[in-house]
Amino acid sequence: MKAITVKQPGGADQLQITEHAKPDPKDGELLIKVKAAAVNRTDIFNRESSSGYLKNPILGVEVAGTVEKAGAGTKTAVGTHVMGLVNGGGYAEYVVIPDERAMVIPENLSFEEAAAIPEVFLTAYQTLFWIGQLRAGETVLIHAGGSGVGTAAIQLAKQIGQANVITTAGSEKKLDFCRSLGAEVCINYKEQNFDEEILHATKNQGVDLILDFIGASYWGKNLASIKVDGRWVLIGILGGVEIAKFNLMDVISKRIQLTGTLLTPRSDEYKTALTTEFSAKTLDLFANNKLRPIVDQVFPFNQIQQAHEHMENNKNIGKIILKVD
Ligand code: NAP
Repeated sequence: MKAITVKQPGGADQLQITEHAKPDPKDGELLIKVKAAAVNRTDIFNRESSSGYLKNPILGVEVAGTVEKAGAGTKTAVGTHVMGLVNGGGYAEYVVIPDERAMVIPENLSFEEAAAIPEVFLTAYQTLFWIGQLRAGETVLIHAGGSGVGTAAIQLAKQIGQANVITTAGSEKKLDFCRSLGAEVCINYKEQNFDEEILHATKNQGVDLILDFIGASYWGKNLASIKVDGRWVLIGILGGVEIAKFNLMDVISKRIQLTGTLLTPRSDEYKTALTTEFSAKTLDLFANNKLRPIVDQVFPFNQIQQAHEHMENNKNIGKIILKVD
């Protein structure tokens, strides 16, 4: 089968299509004929770094496709259309997935739309509700509102969380899109001081929860934007990892709960539990179009380099998809 691997850790020009043996599903696993995979920042991290946390030489952590073969002890029938998180190997014609992690694709969704769901919606669900403990009526600040995770988080915070959403993004086009998903306050971080806008919008109270993809460059403004007793979930470091000036008293005086998390290296058991709860809470909402996968652009398999560059240039609203057949 054809798959995408990395020649040497580096830029998108290091991506290559290589030939591999078709994987064989073990007990409890399904072999998926991949129809679509999606691009994630974790793929870029693994492409750039030989010390990435994916052990599989084939990139890609999420797919949608058809079950081709079922290992012993599995419940999903051959031929079922499924989507889910894989432990690497997603940028390929075939991949294996633990049966318990395969979600049946709602009939109204194409494979390209389904591939846009697992990583960003599971991440957003986990960080908003499991870690962030978002409750109805609270206010959540979702940074990078036009991103894959951001567009998923805005929808989940509204549809399931019944929360108020404040979001930031770097262009009016992205902010308009966030508004169309239900975000009430949309701030252009390139033109406005988001902390000032947030204090104004919340009558100087600040937000209950921050979903932070940015890290170091937003540290001071996030501190100013969060409520006393607020929760802050750090899930990305797009704005750097080192904070020049860090006063721990700021954390103590506001009694902030700051948590970091990464989904890809989590255990199979954790991912199964998350997938199971997520499926129960959301698949009907996808079937009724109350939640929608946001597809920015679909690239052919042999244009993986362009797909990575599109993400690295911050061009996408929602997900970048790789069409595999
Ligand atoms: P994405 O679709 O590529 O979107 C990222 C967006 O962030 C960019 O389009 C850009 O939008 C904005 N951005 C980039 N650099 C920025 C900076 N320095 N300051 C402010 N905004 C910046 O990304 P994604 O796939 O949704 O992932 C979003 C983040 O979540 C990434 O950091 C990713 O690593 C992380 N993530 C973490 C986990 C986890 O388990 N911890 C899981 C999945 C994803 P603008 O045009 O608005 O600037």
